[in-house]
Amino acid sequence: MNAKATNLNACLCGCGGATRATFCAGHDAKMISNLVAVVVADSLTKAGIAKLAKSLPSDALRAKFERAAARATAPKPAPEAKADAEEVAA
Ligand SMILES: [Zn+2]
Repeated sequence: MNAKATNLNACLCGCGGATRATFCAGHDAKMISNLVAVVVADSLTKAGIAKLAKSLPSDALRAKFERAAARATAPKPAPEAKADAEEVAA
């Protein structure tokens, strides 16, 4: 490969950094957490999440984002759920 340092791209996360790849180091995770924050703030549906996922440059990132979005939007298990299980065992 003959990639030169002059062949820089703007980091896709929007930070304004320049990189030879798509993102500055670690900024793929930063972009995913930014997108997940949008998902949570706007209460996006699966369709909205899929639309946001399309802005990501690779299948791996899209999968990572969709998992993170699913985790962030999943209903939190109630604390009672664990207590119930313990009561059943007692
Ligand atoms: Zn960045």
